[in-house]
Amino acid sequence: MTFALYVHVPFCVAKCDYCAFYSRVFDEALCDEWLTGMSREAERLATVWKGKIPLRTTYVGGGTPSVPPLSAWERLFKILGKAFDFSRVKEFTVEANPCSLTSDHLRLWREFRVTRISLGAQSLNDGELAWLGRRHDAGMALMALKKILFFDFDASIDLIFGLPDQTLRTWRQSLHTALAVGVGHVSVYQLTLEPGTPLSYTSPSLPEGYPFYRFAQWYLPRKGLAQYEIASFARSGKECRHNLAYWRQENVLALGPSAWGYLSLQQQGFRYQNAPTLEEYSASESIVEVERLKGRSRGVESAILALRTRWGIDVEYFATRFGQKLADEILDLLKEAPPRLTRFEGKSVALTPAGMRVGNAIWAKLLELEE
Ligand code: SF4
Repeated sequence: MTFALYVHVPFCVAKCDYCAFYSRVFDEALCDEWLTGMSREAERLATVWKGKIPLRTTYVGGGTPSVPPLSAWERLFKILGKAFDFSRVKEFTVEANPCSLTSDHLRLWREFRVTRISLGAQSLNDGELAWLGRRHDAGMALMALKKILFFDFDASIDLIFGLPDQTLRTWRQSLHTALAVGVGHVSVYQLTLEPGTPLSYTSPSLPEGYPFYRFAQWYLPRKGLAQYEIASFARSGKECRHNLAYWRQENVLALGPSAWGYLSLQQQGFRYQNAPTLEEYSASESIVEVERLKGRSRGVESAILALRTRWGIDVEYFATRFGQKLADEILDLLKEAPPRLTRFEGKSVALTPAGMRVGNAIWAKLLELEE
């Protein structure tokens, strides 16, 4: 048995107005507090496991993992090395931001067998970056990508669509530029007004996201990056294995404030969240919320997660896990959808690119089967 591990770094250079992830402006004392909490949590997990926990993938996200200095990273690697067995890790991703990523970070991460860097660039257009309030321009993002590739990491880039004044031309330019530099993985997200974020109070006028998403679905596969998940495109072999663990309901351990994990135990799934803020994380037992998924709810969630990916649902396997009755109900529901949205192949069913564009409507129908 091996696990996927998610580590949350709760620091950024500054907060972006559109962001709902938990993070704080970096401060050395807070960083020390975070690492002390991480050490306690990692030790506790290893005690429960009675030894070093074997990992398959590791993903360090945030926040901005490239913000803590090298000394903090060295301490973090020591903490992780004491509690986890990395000998079977095939993929180790760290998220980075163009304005804080340094060659020294990359050199250190290489030493600790990090394999993949996911760059939160968001756009490669200066006007769009300025509107987002990002502290870097397109030139800095490109420099960061080149550095990542120079150090021989797999490179992924996050790009946002649906920005004011964004056009299909500027969107194409961002995608094209990222590919021209040599990234093998692109994640695309629509800008959403997350409740509680400063941007959500300003009600900006945002363009319809559909044409941008559709363009990415047309453009990226023609450039060799197949769509393998609703928001993810990759060259063959460059898919993010860690994220596949979430979509396949595999065991994911979570470390750090606000981090989410998932564990499968005896026909039940447990999704848990660590304390949502650094203060609460430091002051308490770290897990504060546990949601138990069983029976039909777990089956429906599994179907929705599988349909996010291009492999879709393996119907025979699904029936062995959740029963033939639920498998048949899901198949019936998908057969009722317009044929251009679904693809039935052998014993599996998946969404087509057109189906992925209306995924939310399909999830809503599937969720009705929970009752
Ligand atoms: S840098 Fe990333 S994680 Fe930090 S506030 Fe901005 S969008 Fe959020």
